[in-house]
Amino acid sequence: MAILGCIADDFTGATDLAAMLVANGMTTVQVIGVPTGPLPDADAVVVALKSRTAPVGQAVAESLAACEALLAGGARQIFFKYCSTFDSTDEGNIGPVADALSRRLQSGFAIACPAFPANARSIYQGHLFVGAALLSESGMENHPLTPMRDANLVRVLSRQTEARVGLVPFAVVEQGANAIRRDFHRLRDAGHGYAITDAVTDAHLREIGTACAGHALITGGSGIAMGLPDNFRAQGLLPERGDAAILPEPRGMMAVVTGSCSRATLGQIGLARDHVPVLELDALATPDARALAAQARAWMEGKLSDERPIVIAASAPPEKVAALQQKLGRDAAGALVEDAVATIAADLVARGVGRMVVAGGETSGAVVQRLGITSLRIGRQIDPGVPWTYAEPGGLHLALKSGNFGARDFFLKAFQP
Ligand code: ADP
Repeated sequence: MAILGCIADDFTGATDLAAMLVANGMTTVQVIGVPTGPLPDADAVVVALKSRTAPVGQAVAESLAACEALLAGGARQIFFKYCSTFDSTDEGNIGPVADALSRRLQSGFAIACPAFPANARSIYQGHLFVGAALLSESGMENHPLTPMRDANLVRVLSRQTEARVGLVPFAVVEQGANAIRRDFHRLRDAGHGYAITDAVTDAHLREIGTACAGHALITGGSGIAMGLPDNFRAQGLLPERGDAAILPEPRGMMAVVTGSCSRATLGQIGLARDHVPVLELDALATPDARALAAQARAWMEGKLSDERPIVIAASAPPEKVAALQQKLGRDAAGALVEDAVATIAADLVARGVGRMVVAGGETSGAVVQRLGITSLRIGRQIDPGVPWTYAEPGGLHLALKSGNFGARDFFLKAFQP
């Protein structure tokens, strides 16, 4: 039975949260989309939705459906996970989804705490900072989908919900869990539905986590999840585990596929070139997904090994990406490369690859969909934010790396025991 049920508003955010829970001693499975059958066996289940920028009605309906499935699977607490930069518009979706979950759970009151000090997201007097900059001066004010032009989260959330939004300030959080709990009661009694909760350090997040032990609903970033497993241990619901990250033994050939053109990924391909076989496809010269996949199929013959990976990259430097985009349009160019990489990934699995790294957020989505994967059991982290996972159905070991993540030797390090 799952103890903690989580609903994440995007795919990589779900993985990030799942990795945090595993690091704090909960076995965790990430389910892709609203679960249809029984929940997988794990202490925590994280449902990955794509609801961050979906129409409000759809985001609410999917989140409620996920909530029902998690409750039916035994979840005692529901965690609504959003981005640590509170990505949303004045229409939503954070407020409307939180309102719907709060009504369903009859929670009446919930925290809203996207702070994640390890990633330089802190909240002080209700204002969200990214490093030393206010959210509204951090670059997020120019985000193409969810521009954040106001750093005051009390105001931001107030524009998205009918409920009153209060603040548990730094001075209270500093005093620890009991003081925080008292402030929650004060705000709830005064008619508030939410409390933006200041947090500047991991110690704050742990104290806030303790104070949320009895809450039916928690909303926040993955940082706040670090304090929750202790509550379940204290309640006798969660055993002490030294093994939350253990996955079935990996076997089979090793491969990396990439459609990410981020600087970090290009550097990782560059380093891999000196150590393992690397195929660099040229989507500009061959703007045809089938033909690219055929080139990869011919190249991979005889190169697959269970001792070192091969790397197949459709990635390209900015000028080549721009040229293909100009030729085909941005969406068509992206779709072409995603289609090619997904086909190559399926070919690799058909040829015995059992351990695969996929680089690129959108690219990962395309590969997971093509392989028909419905859930990922979360294992050890290779680098921060990128764990190995065990994908089902199929039993493939998969690491999904969003573009800018990972050290330069990521593609080699991932396969070291
Ligand atoms: P990241 O996580 O680095 O942002 P994504 O996979 O999310 O990576 O996005 C990269 C996008 O660029 C994908 O849609 C991919 O198909 C596209 N792409 C990859 N290679 C090329 C290329 N050579 N030309 C044009 N677009 C490309």
